[in-house]
Amino acid sequence: MRPKLLNELWELLFPRICPVCEGRLLPDESFICTECLIEFPLLRFEKTEDNKMIRTLWGSIPVAHAVSIFSYRHHSIYHNLLLQIKYRGNAKLAQQMGTWAAMQIRDLALEEKVDVIVPVPLSRRKQWERGYNQAYHLALGLSKVYNLPIRKWLKRTADRQTQTHMDATQRMENAKGSYEAKIPVSERGKRILLVDDVMTTGATMIACSEAILKVDNTAEISIFTLALSK
Ligand SMILES: [Zn+2]
Repeated sequence: MRPKLLNELWELLFPRICPVCEGRLLPDESFICTECLIEFPLLRFEKTEDNKMIRTLWGSIPVAHAVSIFSYRHHSIYHNLLLQIKYRGNAKLAQQMGTWAAMQIRDLALEEKVDVIVPVPLSRRKQWERGYNQAYHLALGLSKVYNLPIRKWLKRTADRQTQTHMDATQRMENAKGSYEAKIPVSERGKRILLVDDVMTTGATMIACSEAILKVDNTAEISIFTLALSK
């Protein structure tokens, strides 16, 4: 451990920034400032009856469990978190958020409800451009807490346009058939937790689930996203 004075000097030279409000972090704040943590727009649903995620996917794919940690509007400062892990190269933050998120929903005991974690993949080109897959780093953070294996069973085959400015129907069309699953025969019938950073219309989750169920219709799908966009 660094002595206190050295710590202070370190903070002065390399100030740590809160990824939400972009203010300076105090030495005892871990990665989000206390103020932003207090105001955090946490979601805590998991029950089937009032679960917005499950309702969104109703009729498309069977989902056993679905959980999202927070909701945000496009102009909210909490959107910064997603921009940081997606576009600003902050893979470490993605992993920290994964661990933090898992701790927030510790009482749901997801580790007893799923067997493996499967991150939603990026296309090869996007992964190369970005240098990492934020969903994989979120999964790393989750697996640390849950002690569950991560399986890269999904591949994004089609490299279509970014979905940011598309409406629900366009997103559905864009994602459809864009994923392919490869699951070893010995691993069939697992309870899979699909992990992604954000869910908007559910198009990606539906396309990924369809790809999985196509090769293994005995698999059970649950979904986890860090955020739910309003
Ligand atoms: Zn902050």
